[in-house]
Amino acid sequence: MLEIEDPDREVRPLLALLDGSRTVAEVDRAFHEQLPDSGFDVPEAITQLDEAGLLEDAAATTTLTRYDLERFKRNIGFFETYADLSTAKYAAQEQIRDCRVLLLGLGGVGSYVSLSLLGAGVQDLRVLDFDKVELSNLNRQILYSEAVIGERKVEAALGRLQEYYPGARIEGVERKLSAPADLDDIVADRDFVFCAVDRPKMHVIRWVNDACVRAGVPFIGGGVELQRSIIYLIQPGVTGCLECWRLSNADDETTRSLRAQMEERHEGNTGVGPDLAAFGPLVSVLNSLMVTEFVRHVTRIVEPIAAGRLMETRFEDMSTHQAEQWERRPDCPVCGDRAALVSAP
Ligand SMILES: [Zn+2]
Repeated sequence: MLEIEDPDREVRPLLALLDGSRTVAEVDRAFHEQLPDSGFDVPEAITQLDEAGLLEDAAATTTLTRYDLERFKRNIGFFETYADLSTAKYAAQEQIRDCRVLLLGLGGVGSYVSLSLLGAGVQDLRVLDFDKVELSNLNRQILYSEAVIGERKVEAALGRLQEYYPGARIEGVERKLSAPADLDDIVADRDFVFCAVDRPKMHVIRWVNDACVRAGVPFIGGGVELQRSIIYLIQPGVTGCLECWRLSNADDETTRSLRAQMEERHEGNTGVGPDLAAFGPLVSVLNSLMVTEFVRHVTRIVEPIAAGRLMETRFEDMSTHQAEQWERRPDCPVCGDRAALVSAP
């Protein structure tokens, strides 16, 4: 609850004038016509009300269609809680609409993320996978049903996604990644990349890092690590990249041994045990962490929380906190000073 003191009885008449039908100058004039003896600074009071998050511009226009306004009405209602006189309630929805996204992987994370992105209002989505649907996918891969077991994921997903949001441009790429160059043509025209692929383990995220940094395209990655969900956001030219993280870890004894254990576990994939752990509810938590971070990054209604940081959410108590943080390294072979010199034209 908010209380505004009004000892001189000037705030109430001002609020009555702020009904969306006048400009600031017109409000000022009308106020002093009503209270000619008042020395109240109307523009300053309006600025203060705006800074308190109490005002929005009733004359704000939008390029959203009538269909968009209806389909995304509840999103816009949410974004309106962040609107002020300089940022219209429609702005965030327009920014999401205009963001061209690449989603790598249509497994558990990709299933949730693809649907969430279309629900958020992304209209240009490219998806990539190479796998077929299996029965053991269905504990978490909500894009698919038993009817499509054995089918290509890209094909099955495209049907489902296009049905969910017919107005979106959705493109499927069937491709198995084997080197950073496999990503160049599909990253080049994108504004944002989601990395939801995990094979081959430990290699693929480095390829994605390499391709996205070279193209200057921000990306978000993460995964379900046994009993926790982790995410990180890489903004080329702003944060350090994944290679910077590896270099930082190499300098640090604790994280070095942790990383060695992780890599050992990943490389020694025996087909049984914890490596096969992928618990559906944690995967959907991961989706929420990734897509809300994407919305923060694209709209800036608030700042991203995982830029250059590894954030973890633990199953035990659902607490979310920073597990690691790293800076850009001038000696990084991917985004460092020398890398920039080498790739400069
Ligand atoms: Zn780097």
